[in-house]
Amino acid sequence: TKISSENIIERTSAHGAKNYKPLPVVIAEASGVWVKDPEGNEYMDMLSAYSAVNQGHRHPKIIQALKDQADRVTLTSRAFHNDQLASFYEMVSTWTGKEMVLPMNTGTEAVETAVKAIRRWGYERKGIPEGQAEIIACEGNFHGRTMSAVSLSSESEYQRGFAPLLPGIKVIPYGDAEALQQAITSNTAGFIFEPIQGEAGVIIPPEGFLKEAQAICEKENVLFVADEIQSGLGRAGKVFACDWEDVVPDMYIIGKALGGGVFPVSCVAAHEDILGVFTPGSHGSTFGGNPMACAVSVASLEVIQEEQLVERSLELGGYFKDKLAAIHHSHIKEVRGRGLFIGMELTVPARSYCEQLKELGLLCKETHENVIRFSPPLTIQQEELDWAIEQINKIFTKE
Ligand code: PLP
Repeated sequence: TKISSENIIERTSAHGAKNYKPLPVVIAEASGVWVKDPEGNEYMDMLSAYSAVNQGHRHPKIIQALKDQADRVTLTSRAFHNDQLASFYEMVSTWTGKEMVLPMNTGTEAVETAVKAIRRWGYERKGIPEGQAEIIACEGNFHGRTMSAVSLSSESEYQRGFAPLLPGIKVIPYGDAEALQQAITSNTAGFIFEPIQGEAGVIIPPEGFLKEAQAICEKENVLFVADEIQSGLGRAGKVFACDWEDVVPDMYIIGKALGGGVFPVSCVAAHEDILGVFTPGSHGSTFGGNPMACAVSVASLEVIQEEQLVERSLELGGYFKDKLAAIHHSHIKEVRGRGLFIGMELTVPARSYCEQLKELGLLCKETHENVIRFSPPLTIQQEELDWAIEQINKIFTKE
């Protein structure tokens, strides 16, 4: 007999640090857009592990790549070459149009890598006096949980009790090009931004902001660095959310779906004039670029391409957003999004709505108190979206 959800939740709570407050559902199995608890109840996954499962749970091709690679070699460290890394580099280079790639594992590590690259580029290429480099970030950003990432944050709860933070950081209002211009000094090395802010509640910058910001950065010789960890690889209906304004950043930071929901894979990609600042001994990761990660990642990118997940996201996202926007209720303030990256902002806390949706078999998670984020796997079918809309309609019509 299977162990009950209740028992699992109790035991999980007994020994786990309390840095998360998950919905009371235990996922024991998953396939595509559907997950199952130990009791056999099925749920549709509308979170996709914060967009890390864009290809759907346990995509057969990605699982096969994992198994095949597990039968050959799993870890070499970067002390030696492995036979999978070159293909990964070539693939990411093609997708990003950048000459160089530096592989890490989690998103926040890739952000660390970007911060180090920005600073070193500032000193060695721009000529900023040692120790003076500044980085500009945006209010409401989420770049991860390591010290550099939380230092970039404007959220007091992400920083409380963790001081001293990293110095040399300025924060400007998201979407305010004028403020960006004002914040730049001769010591500014880089501007790091999310082209759509995910954790902040799927916030889309005002039209033209990315283009303007890029022009300012180019004029001021400041690196224009896009964190596409959540928004990239099809989630927002384009390969990169930057594509919505046809801007090409100096550096891409990607992760999450890069590992197909199977393995943590992240990286930064930029031309040689930027990533060339790293020399042997200056940065690294035991697991970064490991053969399992590379094999899984190549398969994950191939799936996005072969199954036209970017195009699907754009098309189905538009369909889904229209249906959501047609739901009228005094608690719904706004529905916004791009592709299958959609936020429904309420005038009240979203938690109880997520709990009600869970009871109806739909898993989503509130973000920033009042927003329900809908981000299903990009493999979702239109009929499945119709089913989801039915459930969402139910919770708003029963009141
Ligand atoms: N950057 C963005 C834009 C993210 O959305 C996230 C995760 O939600 C991260 C960075 C951090 O990634 P990870 O949790 O893999 O460290």
